[in-house]
Amino acid sequence: MSDIIQLLPDHVANQIAAGEVVQRPASVIKELLENSIDANATRIQVVIKDAGKTLVQIIDDGIGMSLTDARMSFERHATSKIKLADDLFSLKTKGFRGEALASIAAIAHVELRTKTENDEVGTCLKVEGSQVVSQDACVTPKGTNICVKNLFYNIPARRNFLKSDNVETRHIIDEFQRVAFAHPNISFSLTHNGSELFQLPITNFRQRITNILGGKTNEKLVPVEEDTEIVKISGFVGKPEFAKKSRGEQFFFVNDRFIKSAYLNHAVTASFEGLLKDKSYPSYFLYLEVDPKSIDINIHPTKTEIKFDDEHALYAILKSSIKHSLGQFNVAPILDFER
Ligand code: ADP
Ligand code: MG
Repeated sequence: MSDIIQLLPDHVANQIAAGEVVQRPASVIKELLENSIDANATRIQVVIKDAGKTLVQIIDDGIGMSLTDARMSFERHATSKIKLADDLFSLKTKGFRGEALASIAAIAHVELRTKTENDEVGTCLKVEGSQVVSQDACVTPKGTNICVKNLFYNIPARRNFLKSDNVETRHIIDEFQRVAFAHPNISFSLTHNGSELFQLPITNFRQRITNILGGKTNEKLVPVEEDTEIVKISGFVGKPEFAKKSRGEQFFFVNDRFIKSAYLNHAVTASFEGLLKDKSYPSYFLYLEVDPKSIDINIHPTKTEIKFDDEHALYAILKSSIKHSLGQFNVAPILDFER
């Protein structure tokens, strides 16, 4: 029998990778926001149409890209963020896989306008289904303006699988908020079908949380601070009387990245022992800073899970620092008279 194995063409490989990275319009928002943050943007505008199904546009004032880099950015495994395998253990950027733009461009119509500080004119690039359709010089401010149109136009099964506009918009707002909570030093806006949903000025962590969740939030927040060799913790827990019936307001950020951790969530819940009514969940916004060498982010393409070297120590420190904060701010146990 003759040999039958072949390397897949790039556009097919990109489409397969896209399946992992891009589940829905909200995944596009997350990837593009992270790119703008990695580009040192101070102002990021998000514009969506039809829950992101027809348009996701992100405009930033970051470092922009040169003509050649603009083209390179759509190649798979093309990144400016790491060079060596060792760099994976000292990550300071959100991205490093060099997969997002290649994946997105495989399953959407993409238009990129970008300019660096040093260039006189910018470059405008159109990519459809992994193919560069055109690249021209254009007038555009310093930074990057990227439009992702008609997501999944070439994968009808995925497009049909998308949920209602309400549900997809909810996912987008969730991703947008997670990023905004972690970066109060950047101003963000989100506009859907012409109406502005969020306009968040540069501020501090506490005010950013309040700006997103509403004015009454401020009085609910108890600050948490801890500085140890293993971890630096800052942020807030909600006072027990404001605990929720659902898990809505629970946020961990590790080195400015939103993550999910059932184990650390358990530490928070344990620190509230005796303070909460049955079946209620504490709110928390906890920012953990750890040595990048002590974590592994490269577990899943969406990077919402992290492996910590010393999980047990982290658990203990988190629990005791929250207990301390709750005690210091005179949060009394709930006396349950109904029992
Ligand atoms: P990664 O973020 O993992 O490097 P991406 O596919 O998301 O991979 O982006 C590829 C490259 O394109 C980045 O490494 C960066 O150099 C460049 N890039 C992407 N978005 C922007 C942006 N908004 N501003 C400046 N450069 C960008
Ligand atoms: Mg990226």
